[in-house]
This record gives sequence, structure tokens and C-alpha cells, in this order.
Amino acid sequence: MSWEEYVRRVVPYTAGEQPSDPDIIKLNTNECPYPPAPGVRAAMESLAKEADRFRLYPDPDASVLADAIAAQYGLSEDEVFVGVGSDDVLALSFLTFFGGGKELLFPDITYSFYPVWADLFGIPYRQIPLTDSFEIDPAAYIPALSKKENGGVIFPNPNAPTGLEASQDTVERIVRGNPDSVVIVDEAYIDFGGTTALPLIRKYDNLLVVQTFSKSRAMAGARIGFAMGDPKLIGYLKDVKFSFNSYTMNLPSLMAGKAAVEDRQYFDDIRQKVIDTRERFKRDLKQLGFVFPDSGANFVFAAHPDVPGPELFAQLRARGILVRHWDKPGISEYLRITIGTDDQMKKVTEALRDILGSR
Ligand SMILES: *Cc1c(COP(=O)(O)O)cnc(C)c1O
Repeated sequence: MSWEEYVRRVVPYTAGEQPSDPDIIKLNTNECPYPPAPGVRAAMESLAKEADRFRLYPDPDASVLADAIAAQYGLSEDEVFVGVGSDDVLALSFLTFFGGGKELLFPDITYSFYPVWADLFGIPYRQIPLTDSFEIDPAAYIPALSKKENGGVIFPNPNAPTGLEASQDTVERIVRGNPDSVVIVDEAYIDFGGTTALPLIRKYDNLLVVQTFSKSRAMAGARIGFAMGDPKLIGYLKDVKFSFNSYTMNLPSLMAGKAAVEDRQYFDDIRQKVIDTRERFKRDLKQLGFVFPDSGANFVFAAHPDVPGPELFAQLRARGILVRHWDKPGISEYLRITIGTDDQMKKVTEALRDILGSR
């Protein structure tokens, strides 16, 4: 007998590396290459002058931030839930909505945290293959068509790491076809030109839309994510959160998050810059002979017919450029390259040209 028999054993999610070398061009975790909105800095400076406020617990409802988000998206506060990054929001959602014992459905190529949470919480799941062109087939998620029940559905839109966006027709068909399950649309990358499913939350009470400040709002370090849905869904999510840890959102993140979300103009400016750079980078990749699903995100998932993925990854790394590569069947030829500044992407293009030319 040993205490080890009682340990909850899990295989953890592996996040992208955070290298200490500041000279590395870091394009491996889909962070924003631009600073947060100017108001974020101002909020931190004013907080520095009132450090006494750390004496008290923060507002457990995170109301200043939830209200600011609700105002930006035309919602009421009871339609918004705020958490410590969307990873926290998603984990709590798994715990809240997917406990019915039936299989949770998600694509086979998708955010690799989903199976980790499912395993952690003992949720059975089934991974549905994407089509050969990396598309989500809605019929496979709809019990009336697939003849299989499910205990919930989750998928990112645009999908990660492919970058491919599903149409709102596909999204709505899946939501409408699952009145007995909660459907979560993980919109971590929606702000880079995609169409949000948000308008559907008032039509379907089983839809939860999850977004994050980490990518499009340049705030990965502040850890802010949020969910939007019917007040009943949000209420259940809050019940679970308050049964686990009431004070998840710390004071600096509440202040910084409010400042970030209220600067609409800055938000529009930086995401448009990322979109423009992405489109230029796609043209360069095409010229070099790369193939990739058309990305609607702040990254491109690209492969070259002549060079194996692991070799491209190593060669870029040797040139000081860090991207993301998965040694997994079906995607091992691909690199996920985050969109940085124009200048960074020019360096990536040059490096790729150099690698292709030296073979
Ligand atoms: C980045 C990402 C998240 C998590 O983002 P947070 O930093 O925790 O807000 C969630 N889902 C997908 C698909 C992501 O790519």
C-alpha cells in the first residue's frame, strides 16, 4: 500500500515553450506582437499608487470587468462569465456542463487541452475526424443524423491549429441539432476577421461562446477569458466557480482588463494590423510553394511538399525563429506559425527561402 495508489494521475497539457533568449523571434504561442492598449499601462500606474488595495480580497463577481465586457458586446452582466484566461473558463465549463456520462464530441485535430480536461474530470469523449481539407462535418455532431447521442460538443472557431473557420451555417446547425447538450464554441481567434456566434446565444440557450484577451487584445500575461451565453448557463457556471475558488480574478487583471476592453479603437487597429500582415505572409508562403488551410486566425498552419515538418522546424529554430510543431499523425508535416510584426514575418520568409534554397 502506498499513498501513490490514491493519486489522481494525469498526462498534462504541454504548452508552447517560453524561451529566455530575448533575441528569438517567438512565433510559437499565438501571442500578439503589439503592446496592450495604452489605458492598460495607465491603469497599472494608478494601481501602483494604491497598493494598499491588495489588503482586501478582490470582487468575487469581477463586476468591473464583466460589466465592461457586457457593455462592449451589447449584453447584460448575467450573460457574461469572466475567468483566469479562457483555459480556466473552458475547464470550469467542462466541469459544469459535460458531467452527464455521455461522450463529449470534438474534432480529432483541435486544441489539445480538450482531451486533457476530459481525462482530468473523467468525461468520456469521442474525437470526430476532420475532412481531408480540415473541415468540420456538422452531420457527425448531430444526433438525429449521426444516430449517436452525445453529452456535449466543443470546437474552436476558427479551429486550432488549422486556422480554418467554419461557416455560421455549420455552427448554427450543430447548436440547433443538439438541444439536449451544451455546445461550446471556443472563439480564441475570432477577432482576426471571423464571424462570431454571439448573436445566436439569445436564440439557443444551449450555446456558450468563449473568448480570450490573450491573443487579439495582447494580454496573455493578464490571464483573462470570458464566456457569453444564456443567463441560466452563466448561472450554473458561476455556481461551480463559487464552489471551487471565489477569488479567481486578481485586482491588477480586473483593472487592466477593463482598460483593455474599453479601448475599441486600439483593439480594431492592432487586429487589423495582424490581419494585413497575415494576408501578406500567406502570399509569400504560396510563392515559396507552401500549402495551408486558409487561416482566419493570427497564425498560419503550413506545410511544404518538399521538406518534412520536423526539418523545417529545426532549420527555423537554428535561425532563431521559434514556431510550433506537433509530432502527431496527420499534422506532423505542418508548422503553426504565429503572425508577428511585418518585420518579423519578412525574416521568417527570408529564412524559409534560405532553407528551401540550401537543399
Ligand atoms: C490560446 C487558446 C486558448 C486559451 O487561451 P487563454 O490564454 O487561456 O485565454 C483557448 N482555446 C484555444 C483554441 C486557444 O488557442
